[in-house]
This record gives sequence, C-alpha cells and structure tokens, in this order.
Amino acid sequence: MQTILSRLGIVSDNAGTSTGLSCWHSETKRLTSVSPVDGQPIASVTTTTPEDYERVVQTAEKAFRTWRNWPAPRRGEVVRQIGEALRARKTDLGTLVSYEMGKSLQEGLGEVQEMIDICDFAVGLSRQLYGLTIASERPAHRMMEQWHPLGIVGVISAFNFPVAVWSWNAMLAWVCGDVVIWKPSEKTPLSALACQYLAADVFKRNDVPEGVSSLITGTAEAGQWLSADPRVPLVSATGSTRMGKAVAQAVAGRLGKSILELGGNNAIIVSEHADLSLAIPGIVFGAAGTAGQRCTTTRRVIVHHSRYEELKSVLASAYAQLRVGNPLEEGVHVGPLIDEAAVSAYEAAVQQVRSAGGTFVVEPEVLRDYPSACYVRPCIAEAENHWPVVQQETFAPILYLIRYTALEEAIDLQNAVPQGLSSSIFTHHLREAELFLSAAGSDCGIANVNIGTSGAEIGGAFGGEKETGGGRESGSDAWKAYMRRQTNTVNYSTQLPLAQGIQFGV
Ligand code: NAD
Repeated sequence: MQTILSRLGIVSDNAGTSTGLSCWHSETKRLTSVSPVDGQPIASVTTTTPEDYERVVQTAEKAFRTWRNWPAPRRGEVVRQIGEALRARKTDLGTLVSYEMGKSLQEGLGEVQEMIDICDFAVGLSRQLYGLTIASERPAHRMMEQWHPLGIVGVISAFNFPVAVWSWNAMLAWVCGDVVIWKPSEKTPLSALACQYLAADVFKRNDVPEGVSSLITGTAEAGQWLSADPRVPLVSATGSTRMGKAVAQAVAGRLGKSILELGGNNAIIVSEHADLSLAIPGIVFGAAGTAGQRCTTTRRVIVHHSRYEELKSVLASAYAQLRVGNPLEEGVHVGPLIDEAAVSAYEAAVQQVRSAGGTFVVEPEVLRDYPSACYVRPCIAEAENHWPVVQQETFAPILYLIRYTALEEAIDLQNAVPQGLSSSIFTHHLREAELFLSAAGSDCGIANVNIGTSGAEIGGAFGGEKETGGGRESGSDAWKAYMRRQTNTVNYSTQLPLAQGIQFGV
C-alpha cells in the first residue's frame, strides 16, 4: 500500500505519516486513516485549523475572479485532462479506495470509472451551458437567459463513495466556472488527498490559478465552517439525514443554496409477473454489495404473496454463496463495514428486529475470526414495513422481506418511509410498470423497472425526495444548481415602452 500511496503522490515522512497538503495545514492535529480491511492504520494527515480555512477561502475567492473568465470549453479541456489522469491512475486509486473504505476492488475500480465518466460528461457540458431566448412582449426588444458561475462551491462528502461524489460535484462546478473547497469524510482522507494531488498536477500544467481546487480535512466541525460561511454560496452535502438537517439549517439561515444527498431506504417490488432470474441478482447485488453501505442499497423487498416462498428460498440459496472477506481478493463479494461503530449499529438493528417479532431467513452474524472487527454476514429478515427498525436506514447488509397482495398496496408500502431515494419494480406486465412510474407510483428520485435500486449511471440526475434531501447531482440538467440564472432584456428601439403596457408620462 505504501508504494501505491507514493505513486498517488502521498508521501510518507519518517514517522510513517502522510505530509498532507502542507501549504494549507498547520501541524496541529492529525487524522489517522485506519483500514477496515485489516484494522491497520494506513497513514495520517494533518487537519485544517480555522486559520488554514481562512486562507483557503481567501485563495479560492481570488481564484474565482480569474477562473470565471476562462471560456467554459477551456475549463472543459482541463477537466478532460483530469479524466485522462484518472484513467492512468485507475488501478492505484481504485485499490486505495477499496483498502481505505472496504468495498470490493471491483467496486473501487467502478467508482474511479464513474469519475472518468463524469469527466467525459462535463467536457461535453462545457460547450452546452445553454440559456434560452424568450419572446419579448415589447417591440424591438430581445429577452434571454444566461447562466453564470456562483463562486465557491463547498463539497461535504461521506465515507462510502470517498472519491466519486467529489467528482460529480467538482467536475460540473469547474466547467460551470466555480471553484471548489472539499471536506471529505474523516474516515477516508487519503483517497481525498490522492484526488487533490491528481487535480493539482493537471492544474499546474495548465496554469490554473491556485485555489480552484482546495481540500480541507477534519471532522464535522470543518463541514460546519463551510455551511455557516456566507462566502460559500452553494454547499453540496452528501451523508446522513442527521447531517443534512444540520447543514440545511445553517445554509438556509444565511439564505445560501444547498444540494442535499442524504440517506435512502430503498425497496424493490417483486410482482407476480417478475422474472426471478433478473430479480435475484438485482436484489443480492443491491442488498449485499458494498456490505449494504450504499445510499441506494436495497433494504426492503416487497414481494407478491404468490411468489413469496419461492423468492425467499432462492434468495437464501443465493446468500449462501456470498463470500465475505478481504475485499481486495478476487471472488470476494462482501468486504467489511467501515468501523466497529457500524458493526454495533448492525447488532442493534438485529436486536430490534428480534424484539419486534421478526425472524431471520438468513441469520446475522458478526464474524470474529477476521483480520479486523468490522466483518458481518449479510442477513435477511421477515419484517413489517411499519416497524421503527424498518423505517430507518441501517448502514449495513440487512434486508427486510415484506409481503403484499395488490400492487397499489405494494406502492403504498414502498412509499411509506421517510426517505425517497431509489426504488424499483421487477415485472413484465406493462400496466404494472407504468403505474409504478406514474404520478401515483414511486415517490423516489430514482424509479427503475427490471433493474435493482443501486448502480446508477452518471448520465441521469441523481438524488431523492423527502428526507433524502431533494438535491440532484451528476447528469441531465443538474449543472444548473451550480450556476446562477440571469434574465436579460435588451432594448434596440428608440422608444422606452414599459412592460404590461404601463404609461408613465414624464
Ligand atoms: P455522515 O453524515 O456521518 O458524514 C458525512 C459527512 O458530513 C462527513 O464529511 C462528516 O464529517 C460531515 N458532517 C457530519 N456532521 C456534519 C455537520 N453537522 N455539518 C457539516 N458537516 C457534517 O455520513 P457517513 O456515515 O459518512 O455516510 C453515510 C450516509 O451518507 C448514509 O446515510 C448514506 O445514505 C448517505 N449517502 C447518501 C448519498 C446520496 O447521494 N444520497 C450518497 C452517499 C452516502
């Protein structure tokens, strides 16, 4: 791992720690990154002090004044080169993500691929930041809409996608002409550092002003600085609903803008018309992949009563084949949870299921003879939708099976949780699929047919409703949130007619 770190620009000093971004960080506190894979400390980084933060913001403000004047396609060219650099470092960065966060190597590599994809998307976007022309009611007047950059975009990210979430935000923000200050999860600072170095290298080669990309490290407190700072017009925050509520209040209190990407409680409906050969792999990847630590993880399966017993038994057999272990080893499906606190949350949820009267189809287990204390077995419980434990997001591989009779009932159950991120239905019945996608169907930001809840493509807008926060990132027209809209009316006549025909003779 030390070789990979040094190839990614993260240099160890003789105390075995990372020097971090020395220009921004005073030597006060250090943050040690511990791998959940084997419980070993990987390296430590310095944390940002309030004085460092002040310098970061001032440099970012100065950089914005130059960067906003670069033509957008030129900014896109820089982002294209970041995509190239990511292609060259895909294996190293994917391996670091996998080791620092605990997801399988395949998923670590997939996360870096997602970064490459968003770079490609942003490059195209850099020539398509379209406004509108609008018919004016006044003669010889032209009305139009322009999109201008906002300024500093604060990005607060979660541990489970330690690099992709930054890229979704940063690549769009940069082509839009914004500058970015990133506060990554305190659990995955090294993956963030590697991204910052990679971007810094490309920026240097292109004479991009210092401050277009900044990294601040630390705990929630550093995120609070961004949320409270009126010099940061947009805060894009990804994490728990608890965190999102705090960020939303702080940002709204100063009338700033926020993009909130928070927790999910995602369900798959398996209809009587489902093809189980599609549904089963969709459910297993969705529920057990990333050890249940995706915002889009499948947490509930709502099954038509006529297919319930069949699905239960096939799922149990599929779960029996899941290999839990070192996520860097080939053939391992499920790695560790992020830390011991996550294992305690898994155990507490299991206890709550039992207390509510639930039974396990696949038994839960904390796996003791593993290289760290973070490994658990993915489990399946028969449960009821209204139980408090089912209503909440437990960030672990616990899947709830729930039975239904009529599709309307299944849709009501799917919607009857506080979160609204991702949902799907497995059916070959056109009417069922269309009802699920209609205004009377799923209330989530993502609704799929014959595809599971997780594994979104970057081309679509990503995000969810209700307690998931309402934000949209990534594809479609999500870029508009990173810009300010300006309506322009130009009079090329010799008169000054007023709108609505108002006469004001002077
Ligand atoms: P978390 O809320 O504990 O932390 C996320 C980030 O917020 C961290 O960087 C943390 O330091 C910061 N933070 C915490 N409290 C803060 C505060 N009061 N003010 C400012 N910043 C604060 O989340 P986590 O455990 O890292 O990640 C798991 C959660 O993230 C899950 O709920 C998951 O569903 C969610 N998530 C959502 C999406 C999405 O797109 N909807 C994507 C990934 C993860």
